[in-house]
Amino acid sequence: MENNQLIFASNNQHKVEEINSIIGNVCKVISLKEAGIDIDIPEPYDTIEANASEKSKTIFALTGKNCFGDDTGLEVDALNGEPGVKSARYAGEEKNFSANINKLLFKMKGFQNRSAQFKTIISLMWNGEEHIFEGITRGKIIDERRGTNGFGYDPVFIPDGSDKTFGEMELSEKNLYSHRRKAMDKLIEFLISEAKR
Ligand code: IMP
Repeated sequence: MENNQLIFASNNQHKVEEINSIIGNVCKVISLKEAGIDIDIPEPYDTIEANASEKSKTIFALTGKNCFGDDTGLEVDALNGEPGVKSARYAGEEKNFSANINKLLFKMKGFQNRSAQFKTIISLMWNGEEHIFEGITRGKIIDERRGTNGFGYDPVFIPDGSDKTFGEMELSEKNLYSHRRKAMDKLIEFLISEAKR
């Protein structure tokens, strides 16, 4: 791998940090900004899978380098999988985390079934070929915010096996449960097996 660097098709510093904390010294993940790429990749498709693919393929077409993109959605059972692929823009184009939570809590008012899952898809472009990795974390949506850590829907999501929201967890604890962690573990396993070839 060139300089042991892998380009991550994102500028979300929270995610770059989360991913580097998971990947350790297997390689150094760099953001688009750090790679000197100044574009906002669109998310035009109606599935998480297709958007993740679009990200890695766009960056591969630009650079010819190994890279990966991810896309995540929160899928709420009682809302038939909403907000899903619309998670970032649930309450509007401005991608406001707080407004998104307000809309979610409003839509779920009075619902007994609070089950939900986060799903992350990672699309890796590796030597010109695409590899897909998936991570799912089941849990529930509570009816008010708890905690200020993390981002997105973290303050209202409690993963199965815990009684804390992601917003109440330090990153190291969130990583024990997180959907992104599960998908990243599969990516890391792949990178390690490639390094041994
Ligand atoms: P992205 O595809 O990773 O940018 O995720 C889309 C949206 O899902 C984000 O804007 C967040 O609202 C939400 N999201 C993604 N990952 C997480 C997470 O780990 N915790 C809470 N919300 C998340």
